[in-house]
Amino acid sequence: MVKVTVWNEYRHERESESIRAVYPEGIHSQIASFLKEAGLDVKTATLDEPEHGLTEEVLNNTDVLIWWGHKAHKEVSDEIVDRVHQRVLQGMGLVVLHSGHMSKIFMKLMGTSCDLKWREAGEKERLWVMNPSHPIAEGIGEYIELEHEEMYGTHFDVPAPDELIFVGWFEGGNVFPSGSTYRRGSGKIFYFQPGHESYPTYYHPDIQRVIVNGVRWCEPTSRAYPVYGSSQELEPIKREVLQ
Ligand code: ZN
Repeated sequence: MVKVTVWNEYRHERESESIRAVYPEGIHSQIASFLKEAGLDVKTATLDEPEHGLTEEVLNNTDVLIWWGHKAHKEVSDEIVDRVHQRVLQGMGLVVLHSGHMSKIFMKLMGTSCDLKWREAGEKERLWVMNPSHPIAEGIGEYIELEHEEMYGTHFDVPAPDELIFVGWFEGGNVFPSGSTYRRGSGKIFYFQPGHESYPTYYHPDIQRVIVNGVRWCEPTSRAYPVYGSSQELEPIKREVLQ
């Protein structure tokens, strides 16, 4: 069974009554609930726990980490970011949601500013499937429609993705690469744009389906971490003696 840890900053929900009305137990609990229904082994972790809930033990027992953060990216300690980064290079999957695009871990993995355009106007978003045969789009029709979502617009300052799964169109005219995949070291990364804290995006069945598919796609393979460094010859090399 895939072991998932859902990490959430968990500040908006505690500090704002209107956000708490949407996610009374926190965004992490809502995401955990539909992942459990899908048969995954799910735990949660939040910023204000010791070591942000991401101890060595937790990470060593995590196949796929989900990341939601927004207003407190800078409060995530560099030591924990390095720990997560190491685990991704060793093969742990990472699903980065919405405003996690500016998290320390995503920026470190991308190596760019990860900046974008944004607008909070409650506009409609239509997420078009760009890659219908991709496992992350399994079970999704031609598009997903969200009544209200925060606009994220291109240009998105990230490296060209390995695969583009969704393009989001917004009522106000912008477009965005809303679902994309990357590989870093032995790890797989899925970035998925929807999920502003004031909208009920993570209750939408298609959004849930994409996140479940994303987790399954990011699952590590059983291949051992590659052996690097000095390498013995596999068969005798004919050495010509230079005179
Ligand atoms: Zn947002």
